[in-house]
Amino acid sequence: MAVDYIVVGAGSAGCAVAAGLAAEPDTSVLLLEAGPRDRDPRVRVPAAASALWFGKLDWNYRTEPQSQLEGRRDTWPRGRVLGGSSSINAMMHVRGMDVDYDQWAAGGATGWDAATMTRLFRRIEDDERGPAEHRGVGGPLRVEHLRDPRPLTRSFLAACGELGIPEVEDYHVEPDGCGMTMVNQRRGRRWSAADAFLDGLGSGPGSSLQVRTGVEVQRVAIEDGRAIGVDVLVGGQRRFARAEREVVVAAGAVATPPLLQRSGVGPADELRSLGIDVVVDAPQVGENLQDHVVAGMVAGTADGSLYGADRDPRQLVEWVRHRRGPLTSNLAEAIAFVRSREGEVAPDIELLAIPAPMKDHARVRYPRHGIAIGAILLRPRSRGRIRLASIAPSAPPIIDPRTFTDPEGDDLDRLADGLHTVQRLLTETSALGGRLEELIDPPAPLTDRAAHIAHVRRTAQTMYHPVGTARMGSDASAVVDPQLRVVGVQGLRVADASVMPTLIRGHTNAPSIAIGVRAAELISDRVAAATG
Ligand SMILES: Cc1cc2nc3c(=O)[nH]c(=O)nc-3n(C[C@H](O)[C@H](O)[C@H](O)COP(=O)(O)OP(=O)(O)OC[C@H]3O[C@@H](n4cnc5c(N)ncnc54)[C@H](O)[C@@H]3O)c2cc1C
Repeated sequence: MAVDYIVVGAGSAGCAVAAGLAAEPDTSVLLLEAGPRDRDPRVRVPAAASALWFGKLDWNYRTEPQSQLEGRRDTWPRGRVLGGSSSINAMMHVRGMDVDYDQWAAGGATGWDAATMTRLFRRIEDDERGPAEHRGVGGPLRVEHLRDPRPLTRSFLAACGELGIPEVEDYHVEPDGCGMTMVNQRRGRRWSAADAFLDGLGSGPGSSLQVRTGVEVQRVAIEDGRAIGVDVLVGGQRRFARAEREVVVAAGAVATPPLLQRSGVGPADELRSLGIDVVVDAPQVGENLQDHVVAGMVAGTADGSLYGADRDPRQLVEWVRHRRGPLTSNLAEAIAFVRSREGEVAPDIELLAIPAPMKDHARVRYPRHGIAIGAILLRPRSRGRIRLASIAPSAPPIIDPRTFTDPEGDDLDRLADGLHTVQRLLTETSALGGRLEELIDPPAPLTDRAAHIAHVRRTAQTMYHPVGTARMGSDASAVVDPQLRVVGVQGLRVADASVMPTLIRGHTNAPSIAIGVRAAELISDRVAAATG
């Protein structure tokens, strides 16, 4: 089979690239996804999101033991389904701050400044709040208010007010403050990147976009320095698909580096030691891994949470009939952005409220009403890496986030400050503290700095935002250039969260989609220029 473009991975970015390319006249696009179609009904029901983690629609990654986390190994969910992680995520629409994107551009990601990203977000969004200078309407990605937030979420916002964190109308405009989370839902159901970009595009014969699920790409075939197609495994059979123009890798920040490495693009010594022919010595492939980590507290209340909603048949009926009720909850119903120290250019800590007493990626749920509040370190200094374990495509990569390994200890320090604010919300405010029946984890207030640090080390986990492992830049060691072209290979680009040079102060779904949209623009411009 031969097409113009092959896109590897139908996740947040991949769906956007494929749809953008297929919209060009006389262009054929093949979108290949390892996971199945997104027919599992739990993909649609927002409050069922956590039931998808660690199941069949998840790659089920595990990190290496983390020395600064008491040797614990974290689990990293990643979507393995049409829509990728956007089909299993928490649907939070939090774009990131201008200062982050301007820093990308200043650091060599030329053309990826805040003004460009705002243009892309506005193009993508269909925000129910209506048009405004900084937000979009009529785009493919639906952005809505939560339809039925829990009473405890309101209490969280009131408690923030008591600590001097103001409630803001739009957190994309006023970054310091708190607010209800805006979500990627349409009328109370999840709105994934597959919903946004693939629905309505045919994939039958004759359509410009062919979407194939259950197809795992094993490597990109590179001949004489040019990507010519991909080797795939489908139904246990090996096949080759040819790309006449380009291959775009959009397998996500965890799977993209191993795919490049198995294709011969990566650190030469490591590739040779695994028996892989080196096409390009690219030492930065898999390096520069950054992730948001969260540490928090869990407390019990008399009422006001999601408790019992998932086992109440009336709530399912309510959701099916009216798309309302607690099953529309995305769990993380409210957020706040704060600065842990004076003089920061922008908030460095995000607080996140889940009106349910849960921890450990929702694997532990206490059978009672309550709330979990987390503090997220927005701009970690620690850098990890992802390495290939074996040439075998089925072998999971070695994920080593190297959490809290920055030499100054700044990451741990700031997150401990964030945790302190969480404790103050739970114990010092009347809006929340007044409702509390008990602290659950920790069982009693932390009394000093050492106790805060110890709690962070014992509980910190991924906030699911790995980025940076195929870093974009203009310097000699960048993996991709600002046009997202893999340096040293013709006809090969990367378009997903792995190209982000640094983590943004937000959540990574919308920026990943924006990267996909921009990739299609860049490719199309080039085609137009060449044919034009
Ligand atoms: C549990 C969870 C909760 C999250 N919550 C939020 C949130 O609320 N808000 C937010 O903004 N962000 C959230 N995120 C993060 C966000 O969803 C991701 O950053 C974003 O989806 C990344 O997009 P991507 O295109 O880079 O990768 P993905 O969306 O992960 O897509 C990669 C795709 O490639 C496929 N693939 C991988 N390898 C191969 C291969 N060899 N062959 C074929 N296909 C392959 C995968 O199956 C997947 O479909 C969350 C993520 C998770 C996992």
